Amino acid sequence: MHIYSQSLEDLENYFLNINQKKYKAVQVYDWLYKKFVTSFDEMTNIKKEIILKLKEDFLFDAPKIIKIQKGKDVCKYLFKFQDNECVEAVVMFHDYGTSLCLSTQVGCNMNCAFCESGRRKKVRNLSPAEMVSQILLVQQNLNKRLSHVVLMGIGEPFDNYDNVMKFIKIINNDHGLALGARHITVSTCGIIPKIKEFTRQNLQVNLAISLHAPNDEIRNKIMRINKVYPLKELIKVIKEYIKVTNRRVTFEYILLKNINDSEKCAYELANLLRGLNCYVNLIPYNETSHIEFKRTEEKNILKFYDILKKEKIAVTIRREFGTEIASACGQLRSNYEEEV
Ligand code: SAH
Repeated sequence: MHIYSQSLEDLENYFLNINQKKYKAVQVYDWLYKKFVTSFDEMTNIKKEIILKLKEDFLFDAPKIIKIQKGKDVCKYLFKFQDNECVEAVVMFHDYGTSLCLSTQVGCNMNCAFCESGRRKKVRNLSPAEMVSQILLVQQNLNKRLSHVVLMGIGEPFDNYDNVMKFIKIINNDHGLALGARHITVSTCGIIPKIKEFTRQNLQVNLAISLHAPNDEIRNKIMRINKVYPLKELIKVIKEYIKVTNRRVTFEYILLKNINDSEKCAYELANLLRGLNCYVNLIPYNETSHIEFKRTEEKNILKFYDILKKEKIAVTIRREFGTEIASACGQLRSNYEEEV
């Protein structure tokens, strides 16, 4: 087990099990997440014998940053783990703070037609520690605290549900990184059983749904997951989520030329979402060299936006970060693998 995979509760139980006081867990957390030490030896208020025991029981290694690409208001990192697998994370600098978009898996099994990450099948899940490390290494590199975390990098968070939930618990804890739940966003392509489980947790964490189509016909073509969990059922569980948590849901909608960007699609989308406490985030497609899809022209993006507005659906157009440094999902790793 890695020390960064321990929730505060896990560590408290650990100390109780080795006949120590449970407040030691808070001391360790303080070293990890307030003082950012990188070895047990630096935890100077903890007795030598306990340090030895901790060293025996926990790993404390970190992935390496192997590539950094800086853009105007974005910075992209490629990490390499002990087993030589790589994932990426992107920092975006906003006026309201600094957000990190991080990866949850090596590869992805969801196979969405437009997505670069899905070109490589899932190799494995990331552990909570590997997700926590992405935050810590980026903070260290920038010498700056991150204010927001979004789980929209490589992978499907709800296909790695338990690790993702543990990760959220760790970074949310006041003794840990103390990132507010409302500053954390989980994005899913729509794995219904996990959305239900997430609803039962009744957290203040934001939920984003990658919708990308207003009907099953189009969604089946571009998102394979829709064949397992079709739209009607997806909307039903989201209604339940909104009712239980009283939270507003974000629907992400990539505009793909001649696929899902017609006026008819806009009206259909408005009808699908009418009455839901939600907003639509229209995403100009980040074209990749490997995939056929094209980005919708600016004027049609605006047309789509205007229709949703007129239909009283809350909508924004995603500000673009990082197109110049190929920062679409999975692109940095793809390009890196071609170079090496
Ligand atoms: N698997 C999760 C999270 C990772 S993808 C999910 O599906 O939500 C994060 C978001 O980026 C998704 O909405 C995804 O559809 C979108 N995306 C993938 N490739 C993209 C591209 N080339 N341009 C713009 N958005 C893209």
